[in-house]
Amino acid sequence: MVEVVGTAPTSAMVITKFVYRHSWKTNIYNIKLYYKDSILKFIMKLTKEQKQEITDQQSQKNITKRVTSPELEKILYEALPVLDHGFIRVVDYMGDDTSIVQSARVSYGKGTKKVSTDAGLIKYLMRHRHSTPFEMCEIKYHVKLPIFIARQWIRHRTANVNEYSARYSILDKEFYLPAKENLAAQSSTNRQGRGNLINGKQADEILGLLKEDAQRNYENYEKMLNETFEGKVIDDKKQGLARELARMNLTLNSYTQWYWKTDLLNLLNFLSLRADSHAQYEIREYANVMINTLKKWVPITYEAFMDYRVGGMELSSKGKAVVSKMIKGEKCEYENSGLSKREWNELMSSLGFNDNLV
Ligand SMILES: Cc1cc2nc3c(=O)[nH]c(=O)nc-3n(C[C@H](O)[C@H](O)[C@H](O)COP(=O)(O)OP(=O)(O)OC[C@H]3O[C@@H](n4cnc5c(N)ncnc54)[C@H](O)[C@@H]3O)c2cc1C
Repeated sequence: MVEVVGTAPTSAMVITKFVYRHSWKTNIYNIKLYYKDSILKFIMKLTKEQKQEITDQQSQKNITKRVTSPELEKILYEALPVLDHGFIRVVDYMGDDTSIVQSARVSYGKGTKKVSTDAGLIKYLMRHRHSTPFEMCEIKYHVKLPIFIARQWIRHRTANVNEYSARYSILDKEFYLPAKENLAAQSSTNRQGRGNLINGKQADEILGLLKEDAQRNYENYEKMLNETFEGKVIDDKKQGLARELARMNLTLNSYTQWYWKTDLLNLLNFLSLRADSHAQYEIREYANVMINTLKKWVPITYEAFMDYRVGGMELSSKGKAVVSKMIKGEKCEYENSGLSKREWNELMSSLGFNDNLV
């Protein structure tokens, strides 16, 4: 055990050495390499200690009077791989579908009637954005993610976050390198997106640069710390720079970790924005894994969410008029729709009328 100085004056807490000093530090030798499309890829692998910690957590049994989700229980604490070195683990949760029903009915008991009636109620709440019953459920994730994705993620303010401290500990020697199939050029139509794939020699060159820069900066990080990733002092005669300063030169594809806790309402908001095709591929990968955990946790809410939020669409009054005319078989064109070109195209592609794009 180590004593960790907290941020508040005189505050200190005792936590296991493993958690803070080298929290989830992946042993580089444990990372399995494989080749796909002629590029070197990494697979997220856990050390023996990390695996043991998960096994210990998974084998604990607690008796509770509270509701639990059997499917989520099965994967509780498990590290679900994302990208090359990242993962997501559900480490805790509160409530299930019945908790939403219970609070909507302000019931003394479970509040459930029949599964079909409960599903009807949850769908109604979702449809009409009657949101507070969804706030009655909470979930806590442990996430390992590249820093540039963490910057997007942290914009979701309605969550509780505790990040791995790079002031206190040395960051893992791991960097995100995109797979070749995700190495795309800047889109010419969408300033925030990717266009055609970059391949061949240029792709190899870009991947080489990303890797070289990350490795060189990490080596310099170790030099400044006067300590290697493995904890060995480099030069006895030198002092190591403070960790809070040395981290400055690390590349944004370095991995960080945090505990992220939010309620179901805000999780759905996060997922609808970040699993969407407009979101960056890398954060979408995390959102997709989280959608699977949502399905295991609250299956009825998941169905309603996929139906109304992910699969559904919003219509403006002008858009509604266009759809109405189309259904009636009346002539309706972009020029007389009152919609902007972008609105028209978004509406047509949402409806699957790609021939009508202008
Ligand atoms: C595809 C995409 C592109 C983006 N591009 C950019 C970009 O270029 N630049 C950029 O800066 N950001 C960008 N963002 C971030 C975006 O603007 C939001 O900050 C982010 O998605 C968080 O959303 P949120 O506010 O709904 O989430 P949360 O912060 O979790 O908030 C959830 C909800 O709580 C309410 N809420 C929370 N805080 C407040 C508050 N202070 N006042 C009032 N209501 C509040 C709002 O209803 C909000 O929708 C982008 C996001 C996406 C998905």
